[in-house]
Amino acid sequence: MNQQSTHRINIAIDGPAGAGKSTVARHVASRLHYIYVDTGAMYRAVTSIALDRGLSPDDEAGIGQLAHALDLALSPGEGGQKVIADGVDVTARIRTHEVNRNVSRVSAIGAVRSRMADLQRRMAQAKGVVMDGRDIGTHVLPDAELKVFLTASPRERALRRYRELGEGAGVTLEQLERDIAERDRMDRERDIAPLVQAPDARLIDSTGRSIEEVVDEIVAWGLAAASTISAGET
Ligand code: C5P
Repeated sequence: MNQQSTHRINIAIDGPAGAGKSTVARHVASRLHYIYVDTGAMYRAVTSIALDRGLSPDDEAGIGQLAHALDLALSPGEGGQKVIADGVDVTARIRTHEVNRNVSRVSAIGAVRSRMADLQRRMAQAKGVVMDGRDIGTHVLPDAELKVFLTASPRERALRRYRELGEGAGVTLEQLERDIAERDRMDRERDIAPLVQAPDARLIDSTGRSIEEVVDEIVAWGLAAASTISAGET
């Protein structure tokens, strides 16, 4: 069922890798007729272009410059978001193992984060946005009317990624579990905008729960938040 409310709000969904944020956020956005923004895809796009141009993930100045000059366009696509960086369709490339391994180093660079946060705030200016990432509720949109911190057990997160990639992808479940744990560690320990639950975020542990259940819960919270604001305005 599609649901629309009179007042549009912004919804921030943060959490660790593989918690199901993008699937959940996409469904919530579609139910509310909101725009979905996958901020991880933006950091992945910077990473893939940097690697393709031969920059080392440690080259902070070079990658910072690249991020500031990069023309990034996100548009809804089949089963996710289409990402065009400097005119190149990087939608498939940004999901590769090589990008997975390097994205947390690139996204720890201050100049990359400030540019991405700038773009993300502009996208959310008109409200009616569901944005998923690591620092949306804490840094990018601290005034978001609804904040959710979505997590699941490390084993379940690795299993979901494993099923998503398919057994033929050549990556073992153990390897995925290690990759996810390492990415989480780097995201939690970085100096700028680390992965942390905002004090006013609602926690959802999706271990053993279906996507539909989680989406229903967030949509109900979203509608309640929007109607509280509408009521306050009348
Ligand atoms: O969400 P996804 O797993 O695609 O994000 C890829 C990486 O991008 C994360 O591991 C993190 O390093 C970075 N990221 C971030 N801040 C965000 C979204 C993603 O640092 N808001």
